[in-house]
Amino acid sequence: MKIILLGPPGSGKGTIAKKLVQDFKLNHISSGDVFREEIGNKTALGREVQQVIEQGKLVSDRLTTELIKPRLIKKDNYILDGFPRTVAQAESIADQGISLVLLIDVPDKTVVERITLRRICPDGHIYHLKYIPPKKEGFCDLDGKPLLQRKDDTEEVVKKRLKAYHKQTKPLIDYYKRKKLLKTVGGAQQQEEVYRSVKKALL
Ligand code: AMP
Repeated sequence: MKIILLGPPGSGKGTIAKKLVQDFKLNHISSGDVFREEIGNKTALGREVQQVIEQGKLVSDRLTTELIKPRLIKKDNYILDGFPRTVAQAESIADQGISLVLLIDVPDKTVVERITLRRICPDGHIYHLKYIPPKKEGFCDLDGKPLLQRKDDTEEVVKKRLKAYHKQTKPLIDYYKRKKLLKTVGGAQQQEEVYRSVKKALL
C-alpha cells in the first residue's frame, strides 16, 4: 500500500497516519516531521527552512523533493503525510505507483480552532486543549514530557498556511481525481468516527 494523505493543516493527517501505521504496519513519512527534525538538529537545511515554515509558507519544491524522495525508494508500504503539497511535487513521484490518495476534508473555520488549541509533546503525541486534553495540564499522558505549541500553530500563521493550501495544494485534488486515485473522507467529526471512514475508504 502506498497512500497519500491530502488535506488542510489541522485536518488530522498526522493522527490518522499514526493509527494507520499501527493497524497496517506502514512506514510513516511526514514531511513536516522531517523538517522539524532538521530544525531541531540545527542542520544547514534546518536553518534554511525554519523561517519559511514559521511564516506559514511552503518550502521550495526542490528542497522538499530532495529530502523526501530518497525516503520512498525501495519501500513498498508507506503513508505520505504532508507530501506532496504541490503539483510539481506530485509529478516528482508520479513513477511511484501510488495506490490511493485520501483527501481529509475539513472547513477552514474548524482548521483554525483545531490548530490554535493544538499542543504536541516533543515525541509527537498530539493533544487538543478542548477535545483531547492531557490528563495533567501541560504534560503528555504517555511520556510526561512538557507539551509545546508549534511556532506555526498561531492564528496568524494558520491563516497563511490555509492560503498556501488553497492556492498551491488544492490543485492536487483535480490532479489525483484525473488519475482516479482520489477518495474523500469528511474530517470534521470526532477522531474515532473520522478514522472509521478512513478505514472504510481503504477497503
Ligand atoms: P505539517 O507538519 O505537514 O503541517 O508541515 C509544517 C510546515 O512544513 C508546512 O506549513 C510547510 O511550511 C512545511 N512543509 C511540510 N511539508 C511540505 C511540503 N510537502 N512542501 C512544502 N513545504 C512543506
